[in-house]
Amino acid sequence: MSRSRVAERVSQIRGSGIREFFDIAERMEDVISLGVGEPDFVTPWSIREACIFALEKGYTSYTSNWGLLELREAISDSMYRETGVYYDPEDEILITTGVSEALDLALRAILNPGDEVILHEPSYVSYKPCTIFTGAIPVCVTTDMDDGFRLHADAVRAHLTEKTKALVLNYPNNPTGAIMRRKDLEEIADVANERDMIVISDEIYGELTYDGKHTPFSALNGMKDRTIVLNGFSKAYAMTGWRIGYAMGPRDLIGAMMKIHQYVMLCAPITAQMAAIEALRARTEMERMIEEYNRRRRLMLRGLKEIGLNCFEPCGAFYAFPSIKNTGLTSEEFARELLMTERVVVIPGSVFGECGEGFIRCAYAVSQYELKEAIARMGRFLDGLK
Ligand code: PLP
Repeated sequence: MSRSRVAERVSQIRGSGIREFFDIAERMEDVISLGVGEPDFVTPWSIREACIFALEKGYTSYTSNWGLLELREAISDSMYRETGVYYDPEDEILITTGVSEALDLALRAILNPGDEVILHEPSYVSYKPCTIFTGAIPVCVTTDMDDGFRLHADAVRAHLTEKTKALVLNYPNNPTGAIMRRKDLEEIADVANERDMIVISDEIYGELTYDGKHTPFSALNGMKDRTIVLNGFSKAYAMTGWRIGYAMGPRDLIGAMMKIHQYVMLCAPITAQMAAIEALRARTEMERMIEEYNRRRRLMLRGLKEIGLNCFEPCGAFYAFPSIKNTGLTSEEFARELLMTERVVVIPGSVFGECGEGFIRCAYAVSQYELKEAIARMGRFLDGLK
């Protein structure tokens, strides 16, 4: 009897739609990529220097499974200072290899096969596959451009069943750049309380807001005890390659995540953890990068308007998510033809969920010069469609 060598849960999932476009673009010349969700800045020098010093001093060992206590203390202090929410560095903060690992641990720590998890879409590409890998069932709630891609408590309520165990929140949002109003979050918190749900709040773009501050979900009344906050250094500190993230939450849940982490990962790299301590100390460079993203955001919005693409104003992260519905192309056709004719990479909205069809994601994590050139090329592409 022949049986599949690959587990069903894995074979049913497509590879990431984002990577496909990078693979094509890599073989082309003079390409401008608005595709990659990654800062174009190099990690600030003082952070790199801290890593070099760590190596020079011979820090090459494992750390505690929890991560360096000094880093956990620095995270705890920074969280308390910024939001007023206190996490005990001893056992309420776990250092992981990026938010990617923290997300996987959080889902695996709380879900049993058959449990349902509410996800809002369009959403970051990992939530659905990582939920399916646990044997749980993703339940997708659509958000809408006309409504600022915000999630409403009523929409969550409409998707609840006896099996609903958790909600994954991601604001500021990838791919839309949307942020939430405190009032909307408070209404969602009421639903979480009523239905005894766990909320996994991916706040990796929490520092990157341009119009109003981000409200951490765990800062809302009663939410600290039912929220796992995910955050990390990749985006705000331009440290994608260092692979440092962290989870903060109630000790029983963080303890369960730690159990998995100690067997599958052991610990995050020590030199990167030491660099992350410096990142929290020296925030001026980060603030400078945020100011530059804001300038690019305005440039992008103006440019999209000028070439005739309707775009909701993103207030966080570094993505714009314009509608391409007026072109009559699918988002995949649009992205492919734009790449082939004008050598600009954008990501089809459909990779972020069905309701992302009719949109494209443009990351403005490139220089203003490249951004202007990319918009000019997109304008020429749109003219060619007329
Ligand atoms: N969460 C969101 C919403 C993201 O956009 C990304 C990366 O693009 C990640 C998590 C993964 O981050 P990390 O580099 O910390 O693994």
